[in-house]
Amino acid sequence: MRMKKNYLFTPGPTMVPPEVALAEAQTMIHHRTPQFSQIFYELSEDLKYLFQTKTGEVFTLMSSGTGAMEACVANVLSHGNKALVVVSGKFGERWAELCACFGIEPISICVENGKAVNPADIEAALKKTPGITAVFTTQCETSTGVVHDIKSIASIVKKYGALMVVDSITGIGVHPFMMDEWNIDVAITGSQKGCMMPPGLAFVCVNSSAWAVIEKAGLPRYYWDFRKMRKELKDKTTPFTPAVSLVMAMKTAMDMIKKEGIENVWKRHARLAHATREGAKALGLELFAGEYASNVLTAIKAPKGIDIDKIIKKLRDETGVTFTGGQDELKGMIVRIGHMGYVNDFDVIVAIAALEKGLYDAGYRFELGQGLSTVQSLLVSKK
Ligand SMILES: *Cc1c(COP(=O)(O)O)cnc(C)c1O
Repeated sequence: MRMKKNYLFTPGPTMVPPEVALAEAQTMIHHRTPQFSQIFYELSEDLKYLFQTKTGEVFTLMSSGTGAMEACVANVLSHGNKALVVVSGKFGERWAELCACFGIEPISICVENGKAVNPADIEAALKKTPGITAVFTTQCETSTGVVHDIKSIASIVKKYGALMVVDSITGIGVHPFMMDEWNIDVAITGSQKGCMMPPGLAFVCVNSSAWAVIEKAGLPRYYWDFRKMRKELKDKTTPFTPAVSLVMAMKTAMDMIKKEGIENVWKRHARLAHATREGAKALGLELFAGEYASNVLTAIKAPKGIDIDKIIKKLRDETGVTFTGGQDELKGMIVRIGHMGYVNDFDVIVAIAALEKGLYDAGYRFELGQGLSTVQSLLVSKK
């Protein structure tokens, strides 16, 4: 029995820095105190930096990412509204399911797995159906590893007067995301992806155009009511008991992001993703998302005749290195290697070394170290 060490190369939850874990372990404080208000206020201000907004407001929700998605639908739409949804995988599909759950059958633009949406298709849909209230999109489709061109999509949506709502749960803190500059109306992210946090918090950023709609929106909402959150945020607090420990941990995670600088965070992810992709290619593997590959994770096609899910399970159970496979129709077809959040050069080297081991043990043939030497030449020796 070898000692295992956990490396989470998963598309969330991701690895948590010790500083953040320790911040979460601080003595409990009461949430209706100046002490908590100060932390919450500072965090809410820091989050504006994360979303790259000066004028938007950021709410902290006590839920996983999907809670924030549901909150967006409930706060933005009214009965009888029209909504447009971009579906390019499991998470785009979730927007469609959420709309349907509230009685709004959305118009879906379906994109082939592994491809990004063509912004012109969104324009065509907006032209064809006038009066669409909101367009629900995903920056990084975590199920396929694709990144969508949110900036171009937002500029189109703006022209048609619809609200641009973005699930950037794995985008923010990994890829450039500019709330104000790109004219995004509502954006969300979650704690357990690029933010280097345990699961449990989600963040929603809302701009002034969205407010006009939210104030009058007619779908039922109670716990998720942005109007209540906005009112309480003015008093530096939350409408209901917040996840105090997670809020304290998130403040520390934000301090780390601010210290590195958001542009450097984006650059780090681009560099690590590039090295991972090249490492996989050096092993003769094919990337699933090709030219649309995000910097969040690398989705790699399973080589013919190789049981990729068995390799993933074996690596996880025997070495503690965790990758994930494909979901639903992609099951058994891909392996997804996450490289977001608390990840650096040497972590990617571990990931590729583990990938080599898994494939090699399963009988896939290449020269051991073939992927690693590519990764090392890109990362380690580079000045
Ligand atoms: C992780 C994720 C979500 C939300 O999932 P939760 O399990 O509810 O946190 C939504 N969208 C994307 C793109 C994601 O990666």
